[in-house]
Order: sequence, then structure tokens, then C-alpha cells
Amino acid sequence: LIEFQKKHNPHPHFSIVAAMPKQIKKSELPQKICVTCGRPFAWRKKWEKNWPEVKYCSDRCRRDAKSTKAK
Ligand SMILES: [Zn+2]
Repeated sequence: LIEFQKKHNPHPHFSIVAAMPKQIKKSELPQKICVTCGRPFAWRKKWEKNWPEVKYCSDRCRRDAKSTKAK
């Protein structure tokens, strides 16, 4: 089942975003569009120091960006 989820949900962090502390509304977080998959993603704690440089929603997309020149 885990393998199935990995294959069909390449953005498992979205569930982590949904589980963020209640005092931070998801809609209040800065958002960007992933340059690889084109999907919006919200600010995450791990990006607090380099948010301006973040272009990808996940490490997976960062890798894909290097191996795929499309777009
Ligand atoms: Zn992405």
C-alpha cells in the first residue's frame, strides 16, 4: 500500500501541510508554484531560511527538474 501511495501521490507533504498547527492557517502561508509539476505548494518550516530560493515543492521535483528539460 505504501508503494501504491508513493506511485499515485508524488506529493505526500500535502498531508503534512494539512497537519500543521491550527494557529497557522494554511491560507495565510506564502505559496509558490512548483516549476517542475506546476502545482501550488505552501511555505514549510524547513524552508524558512531559503524560501526566496525555493522553486520546487519537493526533493522529487528538484531531481525531476534536473533530469527533465521540458518546461
Ligand atoms: Zn512539484
